[in-house]
Amino acid sequence: MNPKFRVFSTCDIGEAIDLLRKRGYEVEVYPDPKAPPKSVILEKVKAGIDGLITTLRDPIDAEVFEAGKGRLKVVAQLAVGFDNINRADANRYKVPFTNTADVLTEATAEFAFFMMGTLARKMWAAEHLTRENRWGYWHPFLPFLGDEVTGKTVAVIGTGRIGLAFIKKCVGFDMNVLCYDPAYENQAFVKTVQEINDLRHARGLTKEKAWIRYVPFEGALRGADFVSVHVPLLRPGESATPTFHLFNEKTLQQMKPTAFLVNTSRGPVVDEAALAKALREKWIAGAALDVYEKEPLPADSPLRDPAIADRCRLMPHFASAARITRLSTDPDKGMAGRCVQGLIDVLEGNYGGDVTKMPYVVNKEAFGGGR
Ligand code: NAD
Repeated sequence: MNPKFRVFSTCDIGEAIDLLRKRGYEVEVYPDPKAPPKSVILEKVKAGIDGLITTLRDPIDAEVFEAGKGRLKVVAQLAVGFDNINRADANRYKVPFTNTADVLTEATAEFAFFMMGTLARKMWAAEHLTRENRWGYWHPFLPFLGDEVTGKTVAVIGTGRIGLAFIKKCVGFDMNVLCYDPAYENQAFVKTVQEINDLRHARGLTKEKAWIRYVPFEGALRGADFVSVHVPLLRPGESATPTFHLFNEKTLQQMKPTAFLVNTSRGPVVDEAALAKALREKWIAGAALDVYEKEPLPADSPLRDPAIADRCRLMPHFASAARITRLSTDPDKGMAGRCVQGLIDVLEGNYGGDVTKMPYVVNKEAFGGGR
């Protein structure tokens, strides 16, 4: 049995909680499906906990770390994105925090791909037509047509884990790919994909040989039929190439009027007022969003304008919401499993207690490790 570690989880993460209890941990789970107010997090941390399980809804900053001073040893985040955690504050208080990268990569990438298809083929409008009994005839082009995905050109903004997984899906649809990533160009991946494209063409699977290459941002926007966004949220000052409002009036106007935007990354990467204008004024053909500047999406959001409903798909931050991805207790398959494993690693001093060797710890730099 382990010493009795005390843990507070800001939400229920399923059977993974039992896994901790079986190890002798005392775990309290916030029972409401809504996020706890920050005052509750502060109260729990002050009362004395060793580990805090968080999601992207919980603001974790100096106030929380101060409340946990001397006792709080780890924050385990159930998400790959951690823009809700103030990294500089965590580092100042020397509290490691973990995330759940990799296990949600394919689920998020496939969801982005499905959103792209749903948007382009007007599936929402088409189903409404059927359900509302407005499907009066079969006609070559009335009441509307969609656009094919197969063989088109897609721009992938951010070629990290999810961006690359998204490209893998696009290969099967004979798509050309324009990649943009100012931090790292994965030329080895591009070479592999091109070899696959060449082979598919040589063996007669495709009529046209598909291509893939890195280009500057503007070139990616100007050349694409679809733009899929897979960047972290980086506010000005957090990076030499911040992503806050990367999509704004200027950059949306650089897209083709026939192009579609898909965002599964983080809401503030897109200026929503600018996007609503772009859709109303038809600068672009459509957009599908899974994430928003404010979540849940406010009732008065300009994105809810009925005038753009046919070309604006709105999902409830749902891209990683697949059963195994979210809840498997296996750290190699599920976010819940990886989240508790990250917590266990720190509390039980795995890897010889060396935080810099722990695979799920994000802020290794605070402990002498690389970023
Ligand atoms: P990652 O860190 O592996 O990849 C992000 C990539 O973006 C990196 O290669 C980085 O170099 C690049 N990048 C940084 N700044 C950039 C810029 N200005 N322009 C273009 N590229 C830039 O992250 P990931 O695991 O692939 O996650 C990508 C995003 O998806 C994150 O924002 C994450 O929070 C989000 N996400 C959302 C959901 C969801 O449910 N909707 C699920 C998982 C992840």
